[in-house]
Amino acid sequence: MNHIIPKDPATPDNKTAYDLMTILPHSAEVKEGRLWIGGLDMVELARETGTAVYVMDEDHLRAQLRDYHDWFARLDPSSEVIYAGKAFCSKAMLRLVAEEQCCLDVSSGGELAFAQAAGFPLSNVYVHGNNKTVDELRECLAAGVGHVVVDSFEELERLSRLAVEAQATQPILIRVTPGIEADTHDFIKTGAEDSKFGFGLNQGLALEAVKRALSLPGLDFEGVHMHIGSQIFALHSFKAAIDVMVDFIEQIHHETGAAVRILDTGGGLGVAYGVADEPSTIEEYAEVITGGIRTDCEARGLAVPRIAVEPGRSIVANAGVTLYTVGTIKEIPGIRTYVSVDGGMTDNIRTSLYGAHYEPVIANRADQPRSVTVTVAGKHCESGDIVVSDGPLQPAEVGDILCVCATGAYCQSMSSNYNKQVRPGVVWVSGGHWRWVVRRETYDDLLRCDVG
Ligand SMILES: *Cc1c(COP(=O)(O)O)cnc(C)c1O
Repeated sequence: MNHIIPKDPATPDNKTAYDLMTILPHSAEVKEGRLWIGGLDMVELARETGTAVYVMDEDHLRAQLRDYHDWFARLDPSSEVIYAGKAFCSKAMLRLVAEEQCCLDVSSGGELAFAQAAGFPLSNVYVHGNNKTVDELRECLAAGVGHVVVDSFEELERLSRLAVEAQATQPILIRVTPGIEADTHDFIKTGAEDSKFGFGLNQGLALEAVKRALSLPGLDFEGVHMHIGSQIFALHSFKAAIDVMVDFIEQIHHETGAAVRILDTGGGLGVAYGVADEPSTIEEYAEVITGGIRTDCEARGLAVPRIAVEPGRSIVANAGVTLYTVGTIKEIPGIRTYVSVDGGMTDNIRTSLYGAHYEPVIANRADQPRSVTVTVAGKHCESGDIVVSDGPLQPAEVGDILCVCATGAYCQSMSSNYNKQVRPGVVWVSGGHWRWVVRRETYDDLLRCDVG
């Protein structure tokens, strides 16, 4: 889908919203000086919904899911795309995931409850977590989830015992730490050996876990899982990890005779948060994953297992923006200008948590050059409550609608009620219409659990 709009000839300095089109939702456009998404004027929408609000382009979400599904299906018809629910989890989203024939990964009993509430087919659910509670494991068995990705020896024993009690046989994957640590642009080997997740390969722990899984009652060993990191730009990191995993599959075959029926390579494909970011496409990613596994298996004379991937960020990040209202502007001469908005670290913790980069734009002057450098701050009682540090922006005025781009992933799902802030709702837009998929919280919502 081509969503790159030609540059506005009136602003040749490349600093307007026109240049943000590669990080904004597919339907974004600039009309009459304003930012439009999903056929709606974001300034008007903000007036109707109030701010802060998360806005997501439903068609963009669907297109990403479909792109993933279609590319993997084309390259390997038996492969599975498993949406990582923790990136953004709502009932509407999970229904969309099911409609687009993708599976779901959940990482808590709460996310499983959302899957159940959304009517998600539970046999297509994979369950993650390095310390699933006994209750959560019971919930998995009662729900009949497709796969539990087992992360420790304790959990192997625990799940086996609970499955026997429930007279069930639970298909499982063993989570392996391949010893490849990916960062944005490259990978360093060994780092990930030190991880709270999974079983390491070097001391034979992963092989021991597989043997244990094969011998315990109530468990059906289906395959192995890895997840080397997130926001990965360098596809060769995935290939390096796949090489290690296929070696391990060969070792399992030799030492136990067991077939590995699934190889789940986790998530991690990076996205563009800034205009200079150039992540790989879904097509390139699918080629590296499916091609890498096939080549490695053929070289070792192994049957190719079912390939599974678990994208989260790359499905939802660029589908979303956050709209805020500018409340105060503080110019500290010679130092910096703080533009404060009606939200902050409670709706987007990623900047303060790990220095994430976001691009701001004034929605009501989207065609104007972003000619000044400002810091967009939140309204919370922390100096680190920053949404954008030293970013380009149109000169802001009180009352402006400030849009922060690419907030669809890990913002709403990581949101909090610090300062007893009510969390923003989530609006989906499409074809000139909008609807709440998650409504804004009220003070009553905040008080509901306080039974003192
Ligand atoms: C977080 C996570 C994912 C999704 O990662 P993205 O970078 O959002 O694609 C997939 N699998 C596991 C096990 C994860 O923890």
